[in-house]
Formats: sequence, structure tokens, C-alpha cells
Amino acid sequence: MTIDVAAIRNDFPILHREVNGKPLVYFDNAATSQTPKAVIDALVDYYSNTNANIHRGVHALSQEATDAFEQARQKIQKHFNAAKPHEIILTSGTTHSINIVASGYGALLSPGDELLVSAMEHHSNIVPWQMMAEKTGAKLQVIPMLPSGVLDMEAYQELLSANTRLVFVNHVSNALGTVNPIADIIDLAHAQGAHVLIDGAQAAPHIVADVQALDIDYYVTSAHKLCGPTGIGMLYGKEALLNQLPPYQGGGEMIAEVTFEKTTYADLPHKFEAGTPNIAGGIAFGAALDYMNSIGFEAIAAYEHELLSYATTALKKIPNLKIYGEAPEKTAVISFNVGDIHPYDLGSILDKLGIAVRTGHHCAQPIMDYYQIPGTVRASFSFYNTTAEIDAMVAALERAIQMLT
Ligand code: PLP
Repeated sequence: MTIDVAAIRNDFPILHREVNGKPLVYFDNAATSQTPKAVIDALVDYYSNTNANIHRGVHALSQEATDAFEQARQKIQKHFNAAKPHEIILTSGTTHSINIVASGYGALLSPGDELLVSAMEHHSNIVPWQMMAEKTGAKLQVIPMLPSGVLDMEAYQELLSANTRLVFVNHVSNALGTVNPIADIIDLAHAQGAHVLIDGAQAAPHIVADVQALDIDYYVTSAHKLCGPTGIGMLYGKEALLNQLPPYQGGGEMIAEVTFEKTTYADLPHKFEAGTPNIAGGIAFGAALDYMNSIGFEAIAAYEHELLSYATTALKKIPNLKIYGEAPEKTAVISFNVGDIHPYDLGSILDKLGIAVRTGHHCAQPIMDYYQIPGTVRASFSFYNTTAEIDAMVAALERAIQMLT
């Protein structure tokens, strides 16, 4: 289970550029991963040879484009082991996917219903539900976390009740890297008759979630986190559950029949795919999964784990550096601060030295409130990063600390 990092790096044109006169060290993978040539080629090839609107044309280009888009859906279905291709809805990304489900529950919830959200969610898995809770009178409750950055599973069990309708939790926390025990979370929720939405935006680049084996009700992710383009992602939902949800947007593609008196809706997946989708993006999403599967997710996870251990050991040698999130099971994400230096100041100096890290609250303000900090510096690694790049980050960080203290 080893990977040839030097060969892999040659697949990514951007990794050969410089930033501020220094070789780029890209450690902002949790925000957006880089794009291999195979995916760029899929986009260029689509616009060079196939570009046409899908599902409604009899001409050759439209049929080829439709076939390519539907083949991509099947690749995604196979990757996540969904039972049926129409259980995969192609969306603009995780945020769009969550909004489809949350707004759908707006029609199903009533006062007295309870929603459970974890304390370590991205804003996109909080705000749509808050909006629905406000609209329906359902009660939003929070599964607390513990200082090490894991969920308090005892508190979760106490919060679950026969009134719980839906639980929404990320598979992996973007700010902490924690891998949440989704199998247990789902089993416990199902025992109370509640459904579960898993936000897989941070997990999908590292772990393959088998939606049937885990009995997941809804799983969402974005292609740009796993070597695909921006503006495309997916919502997996069990067929029976998706059928219960009303459409999110009205428009072309999502109808069966329209009259001014009444409109009937198309079957899945089209009911949730109003308008012209990101066709090239969908096809390139499929190409990204092909690319990552050609390397192998087990090999990717094993190598990234080596990077995580190496970086954790190196960073812990820096005086006054504090890591937030030390769950026993983590993806390759390290959030940290150094003394009382503002994370923005550290991030800006690192950028001058060619190192791209993220600073701020990472769209997870409740986590920052929990630790009573304004934000962190977050370094997130991917399978195309190297230990030499980590050495470069540590050296740059030492220089930055010297300048700032
Ligand atoms: N959920 C998690 C855990 C994330 O990390 C992100 C993006 O960082 C999102 C949701 C939102 O993803 P997108 O902006 O692609 O919709």
C-alpha cells in the first residue's frame, strides 16, 4: 500500500508553480484540493468535443453529453455503493445538497419535532437547519463535544428521543480533522426512528463511505474536495426518503407535465435537478473518482496518515504551539495556534514564504467559541504532499514566530 508521490505530483500542473518566488507548498486541501490533468482534460475534452444540453435533444452531441453525464452519475453511485443511480442527485456541492434536504424537511416538520446537530459542524450544516427550525417550530439541539475534539456520545444518547426526526453530523470535521463514529451515530438514531444526514465534504477525499453497509439516509459531498472541479457535488438519499421530499427548485428538467392549473414533477433524480446542470463538472467529477480510485483510497489514507504523524510530531516541538483537535481517529488536518499570535499574522507570513495554509474560523464558529479562540491556522495535507514540504512549513513557521515575537 505505497504510493509513488513523485509520479503523482507530475499529474498536478499547479504543483510546479511558484508563489512569491518560492515553490508552492499547498496545505489548504481541506478547503479545495488541487486538480490532476486527467480531470482538467475531461473538462477540456467535454467543451472541445461534446458540449450540448442534456436530456432533451435528439441530436448526436446532446445524446453523447447525456450519456457522459449519466455515466458519471453511475460512477458516483458505484463509488458510494448506492443501490440505484437515481439515488444520486447531482448538485452544485455540499451546501446545495444540505439545503435541498433541509428545505424539504420544512414541509415535513412540526412543532415538537427535534433536530440534533453536532457541535462541530460547518456553517452549511447548521444554518439551513436553523432556518427550517425557525420556520416550522421544530427544536434544534446540539450534541456537545469534548476538549479532545470528539463528540460526547453519552450526551448524544441522552438527547435522542422518540421526538428526534433528524440528526445531522459531519463524517469528518473540517476544522479539527476528527473522524466521527458515524456507524454508531446512525444505529442509535435509527433505533429512535430518526433519520441521519452525514456531511461527507471532508471525509470523501480520504474515506469511501458505503452508504448501504452503513445504512446512511443522506450523504452529501462536493467534488472540489476530491480532485474534481468546483460547482458540482452530490446528494445521496435513499429512494423512499427522496421521494417524500418536495422539490427544492422549480424549473425545466424537474417536471413531468406543466399546465397553468397544475404541474406534476419528474421522477428521481430529475425532481431535484431543475435547470441545466453543470454538465462538464458532472463528467469531471466522475473522472476525479476514476483518478483517485486508480491510486486507491486505502493507499491514500495510509500515506496521508504518515504525513499527519510526521507533521504532528514536528509541530509539537515548537514552543507554545497548541493543536486543537487530537481525536484518536483523524484525517490529515492540523489546526493550531502559537502563543497569542493571531492566526492571520502567521498565515500571512507563511504565504510570503510560499506556504498556503488557511486561517480563521473555517466556517465553524461554534468550535472556535468552544475553545474561546478567534480562529486557528489550519494545515491540511493531501496524498500529493510530502514530508519535505512539511519541513518547509515548520522552518517557515519558526521564522514567522521569530518575526512576530
Ligand atoms: N461541510 C464541510 C464539513 C466542509 O468542510 C465544507 C467546505 O469546506 C462544506 C460543508 C461546504 O462545502 P461547499 O462549499 O463545497 O458547499
